[in-house]
Amino acid sequence: MSARAEPAVEPTAAAGDDALRLIIEASPSAMLLVDGNGRIVLVNSEAEQSFGYTRDELLDLTVEDLVPARFRRHHDTERSAYVAHPSRRGMGLGRELYGLRKDGSEMRVEIGLNPITIGGRRFVLASVIDVTERLRGQEADAVAREDQLRRSMIDTIPFCIIATDSQGRIVAANPAAEALLGYSQPELVGRWLTEIDAVERARYADGTPALSRVGGDEAEWTYRHRDGSEVPVNEAVVPIGPENGDEGFIVVAYDITNRIEARERAEHLATHDGLTNLANRTLLLRHLDRSFDVVDRTKRHVALLLIDLDHFKRINDSLGHHIGDELLVVIAERLLAWVRRGDVVARLGGDEFVVVLDDLDPGADLEKRINQLLEVVLAPVVVHGYELAVTASIGATVYPADGDDPVTLLKHADIAMYQAKGAGRDGVKWFEHRMLDENDDKLSLSAALRQAIELGELGVVYQPQVDMSTGRMVGVEALARWTSPLLGAVPPDRFIPVAEDGGMIARLGGWVLRTACADLAAMQAEIGHPLRLAVNVSPRQLRGEAWLEEILTAIEDAGLEPWQLEVELTEGILIEDNGDVVAMLETLRSRGVRIVVDDFGRGYSSLAYLTRFPIDKIKIDRSFVQAITDEDSNAAIVDAIIVMAHALGMTVVAEGVETEVQERYLRTRVCDEVQGYRYSPGVTPSQVVLVARGLGARGA
Ligand code: C2E
Ligand code: CA
Ligand code: CA
Repeated sequence: MSARAEPAVEPTAAAGDDALRLIIEASPSAMLLVDGNGRIVLVNSEAEQSFGYTRDELLDLTVEDLVPARFRRHHDTERSAYVAHPSRRGMGLGRELYGLRKDGSEMRVEIGLNPITIGGRRFVLASVIDVTERLRGQEADAVAREDQLRRSMIDTIPFCIIATDSQGRIVAANPAAEALLGYSQPELVGRWLTEIDAVERARYADGTPALSRVGGDEAEWTYRHRDGSEVPVNEAVVPIGPENGDEGFIVVAYDITNRIEARERAEHLATHDGLTNLANRTLLLRHLDRSFDVVDRTKRHVALLLIDLDHFKRINDSLGHHIGDELLVVIAERLLAWVRRGDVVARLGGDEFVVVLDDLDPGADLEKRINQLLEVVLAPVVVHGYELAVTASIGATVYPADGDDPVTLLKHADIAMYQAKGAGRDGVKWFEHRMLDENDDKLSLSAALRQAIELGELGVVYQPQVDMSTGRMVGVEALARWTSPLLGAVPPDRFIPVAEDGGMIARLGGWVLRTACADLAAMQAEIGHPLRLAVNVSPRQLRGEAWLEEILTAIEDAGLEPWQLEVELTEGILIEDNGDVVAMLETLRSRGVRIVVDDFGRGYSSLAYLTRFPIDKIKIDRSFVQAITDEDSNAAIVDAIIVMAHALGMTVVAEGVETEVQERYLRTRVCDEVQGYRYSPGVTPSQVVLVARGLGARGA
């Protein structure tokens, strides 16, 4: 016997002893004494009652006979193991045990086992408690608790729950339903479910609402609150009963106002530009689709303008993105204020805007409206104290003549816009179908230019620059020329951008520089005194140290002094720069080369930045010079530029001088030098020599 075993009852006599019989008889539960083979040797009356056998019948059985057949084998092995290592123990806790009655019925039991040794033999005293009743009570409790739980869930759950009969008449509703709909439960009961719908439900032929459509799937729906407002909900309708709703329906719904708002916000974000809140490309295309449909029926027109701000990148890079962003916002506001109701303004990204003028008369005077646009929208913008001159290149198209689907119309507007840029920016170009060919030309132009550089079709002409005080020629500007056997003379305004885009500008610029240096050496030898040479440099040439070396080498190779070379840059290069270009120009200048700002005044109205850069000379843009038309002209900008430049110790040259009036005006304002057709266009070196002699004779 194991040490852990409980002290066994030690009856003084054998198994049938009276004392033991009396003890087990007093027990309220069924007691069975079983020997090592499982034979029942002693029972009490309760055991007779529980199992439905007489005492004598029981004494003929083994314990296995009192176990349902399906547990017997298992029980047998357990018993053997138990008899080998008996201990006092309870069975049935946490595990379902069954007893088998004489009549074949089963009962749930709990069993307590006690090992007993009587007269040296081992027995097991088993007490068997029929727990059927107790379990039944517990189950009832559990059901009651579950009911309670279910009820409080239905009462506290934030979902609206409504039960209807098979016809769709409300029979019950929870508090959330009351809150959602604004009716009390008694008010809801008896109503048709369709009475709380804000939208008509599908109905069967007999008029009953087709509730079972949903079959438990959620769908968006709208209820009407008692106060008349609409409540968007997600609704699931679950049919009850085997015949799909023949016992009614349970409707579960919850308010999705927030979700719908969030979805609308997301939708707005997906269709609008974050910065300006204008429509984006997606919404624009959608709008065009819709308005094309309308004008197809009405035989009216739609105009689409693609507006691309000129030189926006410069503003962004030089003054910072916040300034650029504010400029875009101002332009967006002006566009919105300019259009009519029903028109659309969109931003395609960057500095590209689209205006759709909807539903136009076929004969509408668009020119007038667009001129108005140019005036109103493109007035200077003041942002953080910077007055920014705004110009734009506009590509204009009309539906259906210029394209009969949104994407094509937009593409054609883009082509027209690029034509406007090519024509000097700040203007409108109407799309024409021949532009499509020219667009293809651009690629072939690039190929032709590449060849031209190889084949030596490029040339350089020189435009004289005249000192105002002496009237003598003091320098020349080198201007590239391209005469193609196929295309004829291609102006630099056309091929320089192609060279820039095609990655050829460094080679082209290098070639112009070397050619011009060599030509200048020859020209000044003829003329008899040194000249200055101005060379145009494109922003894309300024990359890296190589360019610096190239310049210094070209000067040296031609035997010129560094001060003779003037590098002409546009304002944008300086302003866009993050330090590299300025550092490079500083180096160049320290070697004696002079830096000239070309086209001054065209990009920025601010003179203040001049002080920050290494500049020797300013070239007044020819548009200002051309504005001088008579003696009394008030060319305030020209005056300001000259005064400012002189105050900063810079030289001023005016370009595009064509008339005597212009010359005289510039002389009174003490402009240092002039350049223009009045003196000479760009000419060959031998002609430059002739011009120099003519001027020399006239001048001093
Ligand atoms: P830019 O640097 O402003 O050159 C002056 C332009 O004005 C030249 O046009 C010149 O012929 C023109 N011009 C001169 N005097 C007058 C005048 O009295 N009235 C008018 N209306 N125009 C006058 P061009 O030669 O067609 O050159 C156009 C532009 O091409 C140049 O403008 C320059 O930006 C660029 N370019 C020319 N050669 C080169 C080059 O070798 N390299 C680079 N990067 N750009 C060049
Ligand atoms: Ca120039
Ligand atoms: Ca210029």
